[in-house]
Order: sequence, then structure tokens, then C-alpha cells
Amino acid sequence: MTERLYYQDCYLRDFRAQVVETADEGRRVYLDRTAFYPTSGGQPFDSGTLGEANVVDVIDEEDRVAHVLDTAISPGEITGQIDWSRRFDHMQQHSGQHLLSAVLEDLFKISTVSFHLGSEVSTIDVTAPTIPVVQIDQLEDRCAEIVREARPVTITFEDATTDLGLRKESQRSGMLRVVAIDRIDRSACGGTHVRTTAEIGPLFVRKAEKIRGNTRLEFVCGLRALRQARADFRTLQELSRQLSAPADETPVLVSAQLERIKTLEKSNQRLASGLAQREGRELWDATEPGPDGIRRITQHGSIDDTTRTRAQAFVAQGKAVLLVVSANPPSVLLAASADSGIHAGDRVKAAVTSAGGRGGGNQALAQGSLPASADVVSLATSLL
Ligand SMILES: [Zn+2]
Repeated sequence: MTERLYYQDCYLRDFRAQVVETADEGRRVYLDRTAFYPTSGGQPFDSGTLGEANVVDVIDEEDRVAHVLDTAISPGEITGQIDWSRRFDHMQQHSGQHLLSAVLEDLFKISTVSFHLGSEVSTIDVTAPTIPVVQIDQLEDRCAEIVREARPVTITFEDATTDLGLRKESQRSGMLRVVAIDRIDRSACGGTHVRTTAEIGPLFVRKAEKIRGNTRLEFVCGLRALRQARADFRTLQELSRQLSAPADETPVLVSAQLERIKTLEKSNQRLASGLAQREGRELWDATEPGPDGIRRITQHGSIDDTTRTRAQAFVAQGKAVLLVVSANPPSVLLAASADSGIHAGDRVKAAVTSAGGRGGGNQALAQGSLPASADVVSLATSLL
């Protein structure tokens, strides 16, 4: 059984211990006692060093704690050192979670069902279909008050058979480790915690999303909250600079710009279509009819709405056929006037099908696509 030093002292960064067993060629190590926290209860493991080796994972095996190392170590006495900045960050987030959950319960009777401490943000799932923004504000304000009061966070071991007045009932029996925030919370928890609420620092709720009938709240505490707020501010500053407007005016300005883009796109489409129609007519005027009186023309390039409009405008002048050949992706477009004696759909369908492609259309307009290997140019000559 490994003695868990962090149970009593969350601020212990260095310790001496005996290696009692090794596995996996000396890279999985069991100690008589450890300050390393193993992944459990939503909180990730501590990293750090054991002797010369780096601790890359810490696993809770009920009675024992397994330390997974990047290199082998030999038996004997050893010094362990916790990566303190990672651990203290976890302590801020975990104590912050207890505070957040306690205030949610206290103000709105909303219970927490699960907790996850992530590398960027942490989340709790709570029993509420939605939480209005005004309640989120109240929640943050109340948490800030309790942080300011620097209320003690204490750890005690208490008998599970007595009424412990816990926020959430524990399924465990025997002795329970109870983490309490003075006058607001008592929770059974094996995690590492700060000494007073002041050490939690700022606490921000950053997102509330519906998840299977509950709400998932994303939050950050401590140094993370400061860094995140700083990053958000810089983003806003950059937006504000690009828009040459004060930060608080950017949302209105951005939606006005988006509206303007929509209007411009519509007008641009109208102009492009008008231009394509005109080009189609001019192309017809500039094309000499063949001996049978039909104007035939082949164009190379991509096939899009403008190409179609131009082709339709060309054949609308009568006695005309227009073919567009695109090499990439291999495809064709054929437009034929009603008096040309050509059925564009039938022709395209027959030609592309025999070349292993697909396509079709009506008498006046048809389109087909071909496999990448097809010789689109030689196929095109059979279409006119
Ligand atoms: Zn906890």
C-alpha cells in the first residue's frame, strides 16, 4: 500500500521514498510513499522527476500508486520532485471547481454531476437545462466575493457512517477525506487543494452549452484565467485596430460589414450575369456561321454560373451551338439553340457515357463529367 503524502500535505513538492517494487524493466515504479498525484476524480496526474527519471504518468491502482518513468531506475532510496507549476495550476482549478459547484448549489440549487480538469479549460456538467447569462454573472460575482474573503480550505478525515453534511453523498465507506471551504462546502474528495480561497485567484465561466439535458460549464481559474483574459484582450485589441474602432463598438461594426458584404455579393452576381449575357450576344455577332448557317464555337476553361449564362445568351440568338471544355476537373458543357437541330442532352449523355463518365441535360443545355483519365479534348470534337 502506498502512503499518499498529498492527502495530508498538498504543498509538499520534494520527498524521499523507498522503491518497493519495479516492473516493466524498471520503468514502472512503486514507492512506500509518494507526493505524486495519480489521475483520478477528474484531476490529471502530477509530472516531475524520480531520481534521474522523468515521471510521464501516475496511475491509481486502488491500494498502490504506479509511477511510469521515461527511463529505468534502480531500487533503493530515491528523491521525488513534483513539477510545481503544473500541480499548483491543478490545485487552483480543482479548488475553483469545488467553489463554483458549491455556489451553484447555494444560489440556484443546481447540482454538479461531473468534473473534468483539462489542459486548457475545465468543465463541470450540472443539472440544469439552461443557465441564463444573468445567473452566470451572479455566479462569478459570488465566487469572486468568497475568493476575496480568503476562506480557509481544510482537509479532514471523517467516518462515513456519521452525518457529514456533504454537498454530494459519497458511495464510499470507512474513513472519508473531506475537503471543506469554510461556511459553503464540504465534499468527499481525494484531490489536491489550495489552502484558502484567495489562492484560487480569478474565476471565469467561459461557456455554457447544453449536453444531454444538462448544462456543461467551461471555466478557468488562477493564472489560467489571467492568461486567457490577456489573450482575449489582445484578440479584441487586434480586431479593434483592424476595424479602426473602439473595442466595444466592434460587434455592431462587424455585423454591419457582414450585411454590406451580402448586399455587395448579390449586386456582384447581378452584374456578372448581365456581363455574361452581353458577352454571349457579342460572341454570337463576332462568329461566322458555317455552311449550314449554324454558328459553332468551343471555349476552354472552368464551368460555372457565368459560363452557363454566357452559353445560354450565345445560343439564344438562334442557329448556334457552344461547347465549353474544362480540363480540370474533366467536364464539358454544351448549349444548343432550338433551331440548331441538336439535342444537347442526348449528345452529351451518349459521348460521356461511352468515355466512362456521367452527364445529361435537356435539348438546350447539358453538362457531363469524365473520369480523370479521359481524353476530354478528343471527346469534345465529337460533340460539335
Ligand atoms: Zn474534488
